[in-house]
Amino acid sequence: MELTETQAKILEELQSDSRISMRSLADKVGVSTPTASATVKDLEEMEIIRGYFTSLDTFKLGLHVFYVRMESDLRKIHEIVEKVRSLEYLHGFRELDGGILFLELVVPSLRALDDTVILLKKTEGVQKLDVSRVTREFGKMKSISLDTTRDLSIDCFYCKKGIEGTPVKLEIDGRKHYVCCDVCASEYKEKYSRLKERSEIVT
Ligand SMILES: [Zn+2]
Repeated sequence: MELTETQAKILEELQSDSRISMRSLADKVGVSTPTASATVKDLEEMEIIRGYFTSLDTFKLGLHVFYVRMESDLRKIHEIVEKVRSLEYLHGFRELDGGILFLELVVPSLRALDDTVILLKKTEGVQKLDVSRVTREFGKMKSISLDTTRDLSIDCFYCKKGIEGTPVKLEIDGRKHYVCCDVCASEYKEKYSRLKERSEIVT
């Protein structure tokens, strides 16, 4: 499945203003308002749009931003990832080539940073840890450019494996999901109706 031109244009517009009205969005992209809202809904259901957030000026708020680069024992990576995900001041978290973990921490005080770093250092499998402080921010960068054709990589809602080829679109109780094949589609439908039945017995 490929990203369509309308989808690409909509994603570019939403990156610069996620609060734009559907009508203005449709005007800018050159489609009708119903098409624009249906496209946005599709992108949300495919989880290409992860959400709509508010970007805060951490400096004005007196917060400190740090980047932590962590090398770890690959055999322990799952446990380490779980530990990191539970950190109170975690703002961004990525894995780089070679299993290197890259964290963005936004902390209210240097004490909070120390506590976090001590916790990470104590975590089994963490081998090397570098901390750098963000001293200056250069404002909002440009939107991610989507001007060329690209293949979408979407995971099956049921088996979580990457979908190859055309996804099967499922609609259950007004919710749309993408699954990889008819088998996943029928298994999910069955599981969903079983769960629904059970919850109806409870209530
Ligand atoms: Zn599947």
